[in-house]
Order: sequence, then structure tokens, then C-alpha cells
Amino acid sequence: MKRPTKRLKLLTMTDMVDILLDFDVVHDAEVLITSEKENETDECYGATDHEGSRIMLCDRFPQGVRRLTILHELYHARDFREGYESLEKPVEKISERHYAKLFGHKFLGKRK
Ligand SMILES: [Zn+2]
Repeated sequence: MKRPTKRLKLLTMTDMVDILLDFDVVHDAEVLITSEKENETDECYGATDHEGSRIMLCDRFPQGVRRLTILHELYHARDFREGYESLEKPVEKISERHYAKLFGHKFLGKRK
């Protein structure tokens, strides 16, 4: 059982460079994930496939959504690389905080 991530440290450029050495970023018009629990397929903005070392991004959303999505997925990728269980809530929280820091305003679009 992996440890849940407990720290909410902002990604650094070093983190990003190392993630991009390990992960491919794949742009697609549609990103689908299948939940193991419910065996349902859902469309989403992006997803990180840590076993396949891929970050998938849906490219048909506005720039703000895509910016937040890549940040969000980079946080998941860092958690996976460092052996943490990547939980949705902390990743959402820190990626929104990081978005505001990088772009000078809160993310105001709809992501859910
Ligand atoms: Zn997520």
C-alpha cells in the first residue's frame, strides 16, 4: 500500500524536467478513463497513466482549462514518481494554488 501524499509542496522546474524525462505528453481530442470500481468509462480533461508513463491531455478545451489540467497531471506524475498514492483532493487544491501563482489570477473556468 502506497503512502498517501502528505506534503503540498509546489512543483519546481527540477520536478517538471524530471517528470518530462519519464513521461510522454499525449494530446488528444478525447481522453477516456475507466474506473475500476464501477467499470464505467468517463470522459475527462486529462489523465496520468503512470504504468504507461504518459500524461494525456484533451486538447479541445479553452487554454485556462488545459493549463490547469497539465498542472494537475504533473502533480499526479510527481506523486507516482516519488511513490506516493496520488489523492484527488490535495492534487486539485495545490494545482489551483499553483495556477493562481503562475498566471496571476484564480482559475475561474469550469473544470468539473
Ligand atoms: Zn486528478
